[in-house]
Amino acid sequence: MFSALERPQSIDLLSSSEFDLLVIGGGITGAGIALDAATRGLSVALIEKQDFAAGTSSRSTKLIHGGLRYLKQFEFKLVSEVGKEREIVYRNAPHLVIPEKMVLPVIKGGSLGWYSSSFGIYVYDWLAGVKRKERRKMFKKEETMKLEPLLKEDELIGSATYTEYRTDDARLTVEVMKTAASKGALCLNYMEAKNFVYDGNKVTAVMAEDLTGGTKMEIKAKKIVNAAGPWVDTLREKDNSLEGKRLHHTKGVHLVVPHEKFPIQNAMYFDVGDGRMIFTIPREGQTYIGTTDTNYKKQLERPKVTKDDVNYLLAAVNRLFKIEPLEESDVISSWCGLRPLIHEDGKSPSELSRKDEIFISESGLISIAGGKLTGYRKMAERVVDLVSGKSCITDKIKLEGGDFQSRKMIAEYTDNKIDEAKQVCNNPKKIAALVRRYGSNTDVIIKRAYEIYQQAENKETVIDVAEAWYVVNYEMAGNLCDFMIRRTGRLYFKIQDVEAELPIFAEAFAQLLGWDDTERQKQLAEFDKEYKEVLAFV
Ligand SMILES: Cc1cc2nc3c(=O)[nH]c(=O)nc-3n(C[C@H](O)[C@H](O)[C@H](O)COP(=O)(O)OP(=O)(O)OC[C@H]3O[C@@H](n4cnc5c(N)ncnc54)[C@H](O)[C@@H]3O)c2cc1C
Repeated sequence: MFSALERPQSIDLLSSSEFDLLVIGGGITGAGIALDAATRGLSVALIEKQDFAAGTSSRSTKLIHGGLRYLKQFEFKLVSEVGKEREIVYRNAPHLVIPEKMVLPVIKGGSLGWYSSSFGIYVYDWLAGVKRKERRKMFKKEETMKLEPLLKEDELIGSATYTEYRTDDARLTVEVMKTAASKGALCLNYMEAKNFVYDGNKVTAVMAEDLTGGTKMEIKAKKIVNAAGPWVDTLREKDNSLEGKRLHHTKGVHLVVPHEKFPIQNAMYFDVGDGRMIFTIPREGQTYIGTTDTNYKKQLERPKVTKDDVNYLLAAVNRLFKIEPLEESDVISSWCGLRPLIHEDGKSPSELSRKDEIFISESGLISIAGGKLTGYRKMAERVVDLVSGKSCITDKIKLEGGDFQSRKMIAEYTDNKIDEAKQVCNNPKKIAALVRRYGSNTDVIIKRAYEIYQQAENKETVIDVAEAWYVVNYEMAGNLCDFMIRRTGRLYFKIQDVEAELPIFAEAFAQLLGWDDTERQKQLAEFDKEYKEVLAFV
């Protein structure tokens, strides 16, 4: 049950059952726990107060990575674990995880010299169990200029290349959630945990509110997990168990510029000059730049990008590359996320460990914080080990849409789908984008497009209408923001097309969800707020 149209039935089930496990938080951490628990035979519910992945899990650098930079902090165990996890995520969701060569320029006076880069990446490859063909290579200055002609030559010594894996964080979260739902987990968005209910001093239920309709309900469970990301301490406080270690929030910003303004040929990872490093990554006709890492003590909802964030990232790019200097007006989109890290006295944001930690309160509430998108499966395993005697099997579970054994199979599947969809969509790029988002479930979308084709007044938009139908029926998308931001990433990477596409999707959603004109205007206004916010630098 993972359809927005079945929301009333899901709500009935939530309030009338007692679950083995209730997870609060529908980011990657909560999704992973729901999947792990469901595959070990537990009855599981998950509630998310916004949309799935609307917290940090749609606002990351979107890399499934081993965390090369954590070697600087001697976090060998973390690098080894996430490096190995990267391979498992790649195997289980190959449509969403794409190997990407990363160039690390070695610059005069930079924090990494030629030998330290070479040695550092060698250790990284070894710790993370990197495949032979993806291991690091070192390049002299001349070779580096051929690799990436946009680099300024004067300061350059050479470069190293190694392999990172690119993903779509929100889609990964949704596919994990869909897989959990297919194994019996009941997952619902826009359902907020307001308070805990106790029997004696043991937590036995959550008082929750449906934020789409206002219904309040008690959700009973034998065990409750707090996987609320940046909000973990808010819930620990409600449980009266906020003592000892606490969260330390740091903010990370990414900017998107058109690829023609910053036409790098490779993903790059380089020194900013203050001891930090940032990524610049070409993707879908754009290049994105990030991230910052600054202490954050303001409201947790909708953190804002500041002009200082923009200046910092653009200055770093302008310093290293021979391009018409990027300005604020070149930025076409952005996102901003909060890292839910564990506080350590005296450490700067970049020095704080990315390790996860579990806290169990006297009431029995299990809270998990910290960690990485990449390590979500292992984090889930550690949590579910606390409540189940069975072994974890998620390393062998293919995620929804991930029915491929190799990249070659994905390429063949894409070609077949382009061919198969010709009558309903003669735009190969659009079909290829569907495969990148939905993997082997693209079948369902094309089939739907053929079903509606004959009756459709506008045959040009049939595939778009079918995509909207799919996310409402199979991915619990209940509004335009869910669709444009978390299910498809259009707000970040296809923002130039949004104006033309929005009326098509607004109409499709209105039809699917029975919106009247007032509701449609409300939904459009909500999306407009998000649309403007990506360029509202404070
Ligand atoms: C800038 C940045 C870049 C990063 N880059 C990478 C990267 O490239 N690779 C990588 O592996 N990791 C990366 N990370 C780390 C990674 O994104 C996070 O570790 C991960 O997304 C955290 O997921 P989460 O599920 O714990 O938190 P979240 O995704 O925030 O999920 C928690 C959810 O709980 C919900 N919630 C809160 N309170 C309640 C309540 N009362 N009731 C119901 N629901 C509630 C929230 O709405 C939220 O959706 C990055 C992080 C940042 C900030």
